[in-house]
This record gives sequence, structure tokens and C-alpha cells, in this order.
Amino acid sequence: MKEVVILGAGYAGLRALHVLQGAKEAFHITLIDKNDYHYEATDLHEVAAGTQPRDRICYPINDVVRPQKTSFVQKEVASIDRNQQVIVFKDQSTCTYDYLIVALGFESESFGIPGVEEHALEMVDVDSAENIYHHLLKQMKAYKETQNPDYLKIVVCGAGFTGIELLGSLVENRKTFAKAAGVKPEDIKLYCVEAVTRLLPMFDEKLSDYGIKNLVKWGVNFLTGKPIKSIKSGVVVYQDDADTGATAELSAKTIVWTTGVSGSHVMAESDFSARRGRVMVNQDLTDPDHSNVYVVGDVSAVMDPATNRPYPTTAQIALKMGQHAGKNILRQMNGEKPTDFHFESLGSVASIGNTHAFGLVGKMGIKGYPASVVKKAIMDRSLYQTGGVKEVLAKGRFDFYH
Ligand SMILES: Cc1cc2nc3c(=O)[nH]c(=O)nc-3n(C[C@H](O)[C@H](O)[C@H](O)COP(=O)(O)OP(=O)(O)OC[C@H]3O[C@@H](n4cnc5c(N)ncnc54)[C@H](O)[C@@H]3O)c2cc1C
Repeated sequence: MKEVVILGAGYAGLRALHVLQGAKEAFHITLIDKNDYHYEATDLHEVAAGTQPRDRICYPINDVVRPQKTSFVQKEVASIDRNQQVIVFKDQSTCTYDYLIVALGFESESFGIPGVEEHALEMVDVDSAENIYHHLLKQMKAYKETQNPDYLKIVVCGAGFTGIELLGSLVENRKTFAKAAGVKPEDIKLYCVEAVTRLLPMFDEKLSDYGIKNLVKWGVNFLTGKPIKSIKSGVVVYQDDADTGATAELSAKTIVWTTGVSGSHVMAESDFSARRGRVMVNQDLTDPDHSNVYVVGDVSAVMDPATNRPYPTTAQIALKMGQHAGKNILRQMNGEKPTDFHFESLGSVASIGNTHAFGLVGKMGIKGYPASVVKKAIMDRSLYQTGGVKEVLAKGRFDFYH
């Protein structure tokens, strides 16, 4: 019996699993993840800010595994030997495959900036997100004992989609931090340091201005056009003057790194030809060197023929890629040619707290409370696509009426 192995139970991996488990063909699937739960990566900022508990964005992988067809193995992948068709795990054990779907997702990218790994907090999975929240509460308690204002300062490095959503949730939960520190909410100081001046270029200026202006109104201090040069313990060093190159320092006991992501380090360890952990795949999502290997989600780069640039890395595309890879494997098993991947964006919406959001639905701009309802519907839809009705009923966001 043919063996299909799926690496990673994120958006792409679970969507592929859904397609393959529903097929009538006889084959066996092994799903592999280092955790025994799936987490909604698009909600990590809420766990980091403490506006959602971790359980709310996680569910057991076994909930979506059909044992008649699939075995779930909880192990960490170290590398992939595509010539031998073998997966090597961190514990040195191995497994083999006939078809492989690689969906190992994203990691934090430091861009070689000194001190990032040592002195900034990353937000790449549910453990690291929860770590940020616990760290924040600790700093608030430390303020109570020392009265050092740096304990009340939070710096988000990077004003991309992730950084903006995190700032929105931090603003929303400022009252919790203030209570822990024994201060007023406005005493919690929020900063965002960003290299470019035109923020969120995926949206037109009116829409991105709406998001940024609200965050400013709620007390976030934006330092834009200030490339970060290094992170020291409790200090962000940024270029303050583009002409002279003079730097300035911002001290804070909480520094969160959200400037960008790369694909899993496993891609480089496995000799894939990858740039920042992303493999440039064929249009049918196969690895250019091995037609039985599909690379999907954030470890994959597939060209968008409309722009001649790779599609961005998003959950929306990861879900579509996982589905497409699953269908293409079924085609190959039936002696048919895999088909090319096409993607039509449904738009994207960035939340800034629970009741505000802004973004695009199709090509139409939306903002404010209605946008926050759309955002929740989008999240519930992606939860449905990986976990089905059961997980939507258990974890879905239905607080549409405030
Ligand atoms: C705060 C935040 C907000 C976001 N908001 C949006 C949004 O609104 N809309 C949108 O479309 N996108 C959004 N994104 C981007 C989106 O989350 C990613 O594009 C998406 O998670 C990629 O899906 P994936 O399936 O490729 O990987 P992931 O979701 O990263 O899943 C990878 C899986 O692989 C497992 N894994 C990793 N390494 C190993 C290993 N070595 N061995 C075994 N298992 C391993 C992990 O445990 C995980 O289950 C957001 C991201 C963040 C961080």
C-alpha cells in the first residue's frame, strides 16, 4: 500500500489531510507534528497579549485523524532525504514515504541583526506567544517592586501585519497589565519601531492610515523610518538619522520581534534549494527535483503569474496549497498529471483589538466594527477548513454583537 507522509499539522498540512482522508483510493497516511495539538497561528498575537487563553486557539490533532486511514506521530523532524525517500527525526529514528507533503511552516527571522535572538521575544508558536504574556505579567510585578518605568514599556519591533495586530491586542489588554503593576492603563507605554515609513503596503493608504491613526489615538508611539541596528539587553538601538547614520536607543523590559518570518530551518538542513527557508516550487506545487514531493504553505514560494512575484505567505494561501497538493497526489496515484495551482485572494483583514479591524474583502475596503465581524468570520472559516464543525463550535469566535 502506498504511504503518504504529511509533515506539519498547521493550516496547509491539515487541509491536505482533509482531502486525502476523504479519498476512496487505498493508501495509508502518516501525519507528523512536533506537538500533539494544532494551533491557529493567525491568533498568536491574542495569546501573547493575553486576550485569548492558549486553549482557545488549539485543538488536539487526534480530533481530525481518521485512524482507519491515518496514523498520527508526534515527533520533531530534523531533515528529509529526498533521494532515499526518508524522514529523519530529532531522536534519530526514521520513516519512509512514497509521496510527501512538506508543510513545516514559519520561524522568526532576525535578518542577522545582532542581539535579536538573545534579547528579543519571538512569537512563532503557541508556547512562544504564551511566554510573551507571562513575561509581561512578570515585568508588571517587577514595576510594583522597583518603580522602574522601563518595566511598563513594551516595544514591538516591526509594523507589519503581525506587529500591528499585536499592538491592537496589547492596547486592548492594557488594563490587565496596569492592574498587575498598580498603575493607570495609560501608564503602560507601547512603542513600535519600524524601518519603512509607508506601513502595510498591501492596503491602500487610506485603509492603513485608519489602522495606524487609531493605534496612535489609543497611545501607541510609532517610530517609523528607523531601521533597527541591534538589540541589547533591555534596549532597542535604531538608526535615528538617515543622513548621518546616527543611532538612538529606546529602553524597555519587553521587546517583541515581529519584523519578518522565514520558512522552517529543516528546508536548508535537507538540501532544498531554499531562500529564507522557502523553496521555489513548480506551478503544480511539486519540488523541482522530485515529483513525489510537495512543498506547501510558508515553506513554499510559488509564482503569482499576475505579478511575477511569489505569493505572500498567508494562512489563506497555505490552506489552498494544502488542498491542491492533496488533490494532485490523488491524481498522480490514478496515473494523471498534477494540475497547476491558482490562487484568487479573498482579501485580508487586520484586527486591532476585538472590535476594530480594517482591510479588504475582495477588492472592497472595510474598516471599523463591521471589519472586525468579517475578521472573526474569516478566522472561523479557516478553523472549519482544518478542524470541521466540531472545532468551530468548540473554539469559534461568535462574539459578533457587543
Ligand atoms: C500573529 C499572526 C497573525 C497572522 N494573521 C494572518 C491573517 O490574518 N491572515 C492570514 O492569511 N495569515 C496570517 N498570518 C500568517 C499565517 O499564520 C501563516 O502564513 C500560516 O500559519 C502558514 O501556515 P502553514 O501551514 O504553512 O504553517 P504553520 O501554521 O506554521 O504550521 C506548521 C506546523 O508544522 C509544525 N512543525 C514545525 N516545525 C516542525 C518540525 N521540525 N517537526 C515537526 N513539526 C513541525 C508546527 O508545530 C505546526 O503545527 C499570521 C501570522 C501571525 C504570526
